Amino acid sequence: MIPLEEAQEFVLSRCSPLESVELPISDALMLVTAERVTATEQVPAFDNTAMDGYAVRAADTHPAPSRLRVVGTLAAGESTDVPLESGQAMRIMTGAPIPPGADAVVMVERTREIAGGGGGVAGGGDEGAGGEEDGGDGVGGGESEIAGGGDAGGDWVELEVSVPPGNHLRRAGEDLQPGQVLFEAGCTLRPAHIGALAGLGLATVRVTKRARVGVMSTGDELVDVPGPLAPGQVRDANRSSLLSLVAVAGAEPVDLGLARDDADSIRAMISRGVETCDAVVTSGGVSMGTYDLVKMVLDEMGEMAWMQVAIRPAKPLAFGLVEGVPVFGLPGNTVSCMVSFELFARPALWKMMGRSDLDGQRVTAVASEPLRRRADGKVHFARVLWRYCEGRYEVRSAGGQGSHQLSAMAAANGLAVLPDGEGVDAGEQVELICLHS
Ligand code: AMP
Ligand code: MG
Repeated sequence: MIPLEEAQEFVLSRCSPLESVELPISDALMLVTAERVTATEQVPAFDNTAMDGYAVRAADTHPAPSRLRVVGTLAAGESTDVPLESGQAMRIMTGAPIPPGADAVVMVERTREIAGGGGGVAGGGDEGAGGEEDGGDGVGGGESEIAGGGDAGGDWVELEVSVPPGNHLRRAGEDLQPGQVLFEAGCTLRPAHIGALAGLGLATVRVTKRARVGVMSTGDELVDVPGPLAPGQVRDANRSSLLSLVAVAGAEPVDLGLARDDADSIRAMISRGVETCDAVVTSGGVSMGTYDLVKMVLDEMGEMAWMQVAIRPAKPLAFGLVEGVPVFGLPGNTVSCMVSFELFARPALWKMMGRSDLDGQRVTAVASEPLRRRADGKVHFARVLWRYCEGRYEVRSAGGQGSHQLSAMAAANGLAVLPDGEGVDAGEQVELICLHS
């Protein structure tokens, strides 16, 4: 048996980053930038308001309260080049450009509109009594109070507070300046990155390509159609879990199908895989049985290494290059093939897709019940459920630990790493690999 780290290093050292491609940003999620991305324009493009409220000259708000004449309304998407004069205010909605002359915004919550009600500190007081406050309702055919205005007397607003210049303003270029580095090469594009690219009007981005990963099952006992099972038949679970693991890893799954335990059928399927994909993952046929033909076929097709890794589950592993394409021969047991994918294939695919953080999420947890095992020279990966509680990760068993018990794998959200020995007691620390997080 060889140590896990040695096997992992062997695999990683034979997988290289794929070529780069220019992709629409909508296809680039979780891919890695292949070159530096710089801002091409200012963001925001213009000074605008961070609040719904009134654009004003800050000096007009002293002392509070003050009254200003409302001269118009600016919705987001509208603009004006008419300067705001002293004594005037403009209704303004979040994101709208600040009108020339204004230098601050008073949020709507600190204001009160007075229809036709002039006077006050900054107002002229020559508008006369405005009648009832809601006198305008019903006349204008459903115009809202905010959107109204423009009637003969004009509207007035009372500002409860004084504000400094710049109040609630978002300055042009405050987020990004032209030429500013947005992302370096090697940056994994997460949702905010995709949004930032769109926010700059960039339609495409150069990334390391998404790996196409062919997945195939092998075994005469396997069936992949519904209906009753004949004696000895087993349903093909691995292809579905592996295709899903490929997708969750951010690669593109390609279903190669189910091969019988005969050399020709396995050979044909692997050939198709290496011709059309960047990597191939098989399950089954890599142990010591008489019909484990994957081993034989792969040996004749490429440079394969057959490893017995000191781990449980997932001891047998075949890995090699067939026509330069990495091929992972994972064990057939349903849990083993998933654990093997997480330990060997997922990091390799990430490396091929340009990632440098290959470990996934690992934390130190505390066992909330004993996680027992026997000494056997292997590191065990126990299927566990973790939760974050009172400042620490706690783990407990997710169920049956047999390498065929996929239900416990499905119930698990992590793997507890149990070094060779007797396992851990309740309250002891244990390393945890968080899955699907
Ligand atoms: P093998 O590595 O081919 O000897 O298979 C080991 C065990 O895994 C056997 O019990 C197989 O029936 C089972 N197995 C192999 N492939 C699959 C699969 N695709 N889905 C479910 N079980 C499988
Ligand atoms: Mg088999």
